[in-house]
Amino acid sequence: MRAARTAASYGARVAIAEAGPFGGTCVNVGCIPKKLFAYAAQFRDAFRDAADFGWRLAAPAFDWPTLRRNKDREIARLAGVYERLLAEAGVFIVRGRARLRDPHTVEVAGERYRARHILVATGSRPVKPPIPGAELGITSDDAFFLERLPARALVVGGGYVALEFASILNGLGVRTTLAYRGARLLRGFDAELGERIAAELAKKGIDVRLRANPARLDAGIEVAFEDGARERYDLVLFATGRRPNTGGLGLEAAGVALSAEGAVIVDRYSKSSVDSIHAIGDVTNRVNLTPVATAEAMWLARTLFRGEPTPVDHENVPTAVFADPNVACVGLAEEAARARFGAVDVYTASFRALRHTLGARDERVFLKLVVEPRTQRVVGAHMIGPEAGEVIQGIAIAVKAGLTKAQFDATIGIHPTVAEEFVTMRAKTR
Ligand code: NDP
Repeated sequence: MRAARTAASYGARVAIAEAGPFGGTCVNVGCIPKKLFAYAAQFRDAFRDAADFGWRLAAPAFDWPTLRRNKDREIARLAGVYERLLAEAGVFIVRGRARLRDPHTVEVAGERYRARHILVATGSRPVKPPIPGAELGITSDDAFFLERLPARALVVGGGYVALEFASILNGLGVRTTLAYRGARLLRGFDAELGERIAAELAKKGIDVRLRANPARLDAGIEVAFEDGARERYDLVLFATGRRPNTGGLGLEAAGVALSAEGAVIVDRYSKSSVDSIHAIGDVTNRVNLTPVATAEAMWLARTLFRGEPTPVDHENVPTAVFADPNVACVGLAEEAARARFGAVDVYTASFRALRHTLGARDERVFLKLVVEPRTQRVVGAHMIGPEAGEVIQGIAIAVKAGLTKAQFDATIGIHPTVAEEFVTMRAKTR
């Protein structure tokens, strides 16, 4: 959508082929409905906190069909808005699945369309692990449309989707187990984030099991774990990664090279092995985040239709896992920074947020800055805590700009906030 609208705004004649609702994964079965569910889940603790602040409430009850219906209504509205925006931008909308016939021809619903440039932005889809009985489990695609909430759920995986859905289910009152095959959640993130979020999720009531992985599922749903344990769940959600949507697109026939996992291989300008075919977003399996895909779209439109060759910039992309509490970061993990610079200065803070001091909540905020010793530039900022996504978005500007620890320190804090600790960390942790 972003590529189509931006290219059209630069004067290109654009057609877009889509078989489903507009908005892709993010709008329909990803970011947006996920965040709505996450808001719903956070009320549980908020109601509990309310009592400590003097509010007396009748015992709150949660009604899943109401949330689902309201979410569906909002998502349908958004998909409609996106379709209208495309039409208003002068983009020609073609309904149906597209298939490439040659490097300049796309076939949709029996019609052939010729174009100077073809852009593949078909995203990715969740995959289940290849274990017996996997069909008894669902993926995030299904989780958005559950008829009813289960009493007991098993979430498999240790990445974004696993943590987010474990928090959602747990917050909505489902007895939730999170099973991850590795020793530390959020592989690729700063190690301390992975360790500490496991503890925070456990405090929230999630049964977090590390080095635990299902070996098979039988009717019931009875799950046999690799270590021999067996347990029953009403729902098993596989959050075990996603694969690029390149099947059935005619890419190979058009000469487009794919990676082993099926991603379109592209250069710094998002160009595939065929000059007239470009690809952006999850289908290229680079940095699989919505705002990265939309940025890639704008860089590409500039390259092709405004005569300004603009390579992708995947440096210092901020990101958030909308678990409860949030995990967010920008820049390098401590381990990655150490590997790159040899030595690093690390500043950390861990504390109870003011908001949680009146109640019994034992939730801890964690903040971390990773500094390159020679230049004193802040090369990584990491956080676990309330609205970490909102906080890190601001910090990301400073990290992207290459600001130093001294410049962080010269910034006045806003008191009392959680985020002020990012400008008041004076003593090196190591
Ligand atoms: P991730 O790649 O983040 O996590 C997949 C998890 O499943 C990992 O913990 C992985 O373990 C585990 N896993 C993979 N294969 C198996 C297997 N066969 N058996 C058991 N466990 C397995 O994928 P997600 O599906 O969570 O999300 C996909 C991507 O979508 C994310 O990486 C992110 O780019 C994007 N996303 C972004 C969000 C956001 O911005 N808030 C939200 C949701 C998704 P291991 O680490 O050991 O490989």
